[in-house]
Amino acid sequence: MPETNPLCSPSPLPFELPPFHLIRHEHIRPAFDVGLAEHRAEVAAIATDPAEPTFANTVEALERSGRTLERVLLLHGNLCSSMADEQTRALERELAPLIAEHEDEIRLDPRLFARIDAVHERRHRGLTAEQVRVVERYRRDFLRAGAGLDEAGRARLRALNTRLVSLTTEFGSRVLAEANERAVQLSDRRELAGLPDSAVAAAAEAAAEAGRDGYLLRLVLPTSQPAMASLHSRDLRRRLHEAATTRGMRGGPHDTRDLVVEITRLRAERAALLGFGDHAAYVVDDQTAGATKAVLGILDEMAGPAMRNLDRERDRIEALMRADGVEGPVQPWDWAYYAERDLATTYDVDADALRPYFELDRVLHDGIFHAATLLYGVRFHEHHDLPAYAEDVRVFEVHDEDGTVLGLFLCDWFARPTKRGGAWMSSFVGQSTLLGTLPVVVVCLNVPKPPAGRPALMSIDEVRTGFHEFGHALHGLFSRAVYPLLSGTAVPRDFVEFPSQVNEMWAWWPEVLAHYAVHHETGERLAQDVVDRLVASRAHGQGFDTVAMLGAALLDQEWHLRADAEPAPRPEEVERVEADALARHGVRSALVPPRYRSTYFAHVFSGGYDAAYYSYLWSEVLDADMVDWFTQQGGPTRRSGEVFRRELLAVGGTREPLEAFAAVRGRAPSTDPLLRRRGLLA
Ligand SMILES: [Zn+2]
Repeated sequence: MPETNPLCSPSPLPFELPPFHLIRHEHIRPAFDVGLAEHRAEVAAIATDPAEPTFANTVEALERSGRTLERVLLLHGNLCSSMADEQTRALERELAPLIAEHEDEIRLDPRLFARIDAVHERRHRGLTAEQVRVVERYRRDFLRAGAGLDEAGRARLRALNTRLVSLTTEFGSRVLAEANERAVQLSDRRELAGLPDSAVAAAAEAAAEAGRDGYLLRLVLPTSQPAMASLHSRDLRRRLHEAATTRGMRGGPHDTRDLVVEITRLRAERAALLGFGDHAAYVVDDQTAGATKAVLGILDEMAGPAMRNLDRERDRIEALMRADGVEGPVQPWDWAYYAERDLATTYDVDADALRPYFELDRVLHDGIFHAATLLYGVRFHEHHDLPAYAEDVRVFEVHDEDGTVLGLFLCDWFARPTKRGGAWMSSFVGQSTLLGTLPVVVVCLNVPKPPAGRPALMSIDEVRTGFHEFGHALHGLFSRAVYPLLSGTAVPRDFVEFPSQVNEMWAWWPEVLAHYAVHHETGERLAQDVVDRLVASRAHGQGFDTVAMLGAALLDQEWHLRADAEPAPRPEEVERVEADALARHGVRSALVPPRYRSTYFAHVFSGGYDAAYYSYLWSEVLDADMVDWFTQQGGPTRRSGEVFRRELLAVGGTREPLEAFAAVRGRAPSTDPLLRRRGLLA
């Protein structure tokens, strides 16, 4: 019954925080149905409105529509990530096709598109800059989804989309099956010499789970397998490497080469249907890079220096091998092992010994919040009287320097069995002055929960991740958009990671670090020389890593630069296509295989990063350049924070992203700071 379902009406709690204490699983599906019907009716009323199309009765009306559905989907989406029990996952599978169908129904409705187009035609008469941007965004989204096609074109597009969904899903399952099947089994513990005890225990557990004897080294997704950095046995490292790099290309039911070929062929056809030369052009058209030429330009610019750096790294590694009495030349499976040793001897940093200096509460209050106060003047007040969706989730009210309330920040840092891996920021309520809503954002990490009464001590990587995700949270909290479509983190994929990457810099900034890195028992501060060595070690060994990243980004581009008219390669030619592409860009893949090879490149063939894998390097270019700017400004000062917030964080998608960047930086982005950071400048 809608009257008794707490999801069917706006939450009465402050900030419209969902009334988690009242919401049960049984409420979600009925509220979804109510929300869907309501949204359909609202959209139909807009599409059939007899009045002349105006911004208010078309675009703004669309922005106001679907509130119940939005509320349900935000809640459910968050629970699917952080409280995903069996019921929740089943509901996710049930709703996914319904949501996709609903979106198609709206975007392929010719009546609606005609109205948007009419408003767009007259957009320069009497609309604000943000309104112009929102109507342009609508028209573009509709066109990219096929709204400009005739009926036959729309039918073909629907067929292509359906086929692509099933092919990419199939790719994901074959990659998973192949990773399990090709795990390396061992019977003798001595073969695992060098591997930390915890990893040996995990390998024994993996074997037991699979009903097998001894030890099982499961394959993880990237090419490089973590165990390769510590395993003493060169032969075992080689076996692991071969198992990892030949996934999906050995024949049998999990071979993915036919899928690589068909997916890229269909994407090329879809791009042509939508008026683009190739799929990469279709994707990048909506990104800050703007054109594939710019993407390839940056990848090519990095390739030369990265290969030169790699040669220098190789000399060091071969010297270590000689000292070990091992015959050169270095092989791909030797690299991680000797690089790790090189790192340890050069910098003498024992990362594990630093944990006592990173106590969770201090990291949060005296590190992350403190840096935000120095930069932006904001303050955080914990709420103990508001409900959360799980124990350990903390709720903070965020105040501006003058006391104005900005929104809520939910902090969900501990791992739990129903939480997916990794770390992310997300929202329960989006900011919009049109709707009168303030942001309610959440940051999830996966810090292992300590036993009762013990402090939570974080790893360096967890600390870095905490600062990173909080950078996304600030992007959401500072948003000042009128329209929900343009609010907060609603910026292109190759831009959205950059502000959060910039926020990582404060984790290592001496003034901030000294404030939070305090031994939880002795109260002693982390010595500056340790900090210096830690910071210096981050640029170490970047040649190999950069070449591997570049290899993957180039493969992704190459597959998606194929035009529809070009004859598609045969599945048995996939390896040749790969090798040719990398050689053409000067990346020697025999020594450094790409971070993912085509046949297990799940990001690109099943993960939504198609033709967009470059964005990791692209946003790092922006990040390194902005880190330089903050450094020149003297670090975390109110003045520099204010500029970054006003020009870039607060504007969300209401402004052209690179224009926002230039407004802070004073010029277009430069690649030099990233090359320097990765140790790639001579
Ligand atoms: Zn991120």
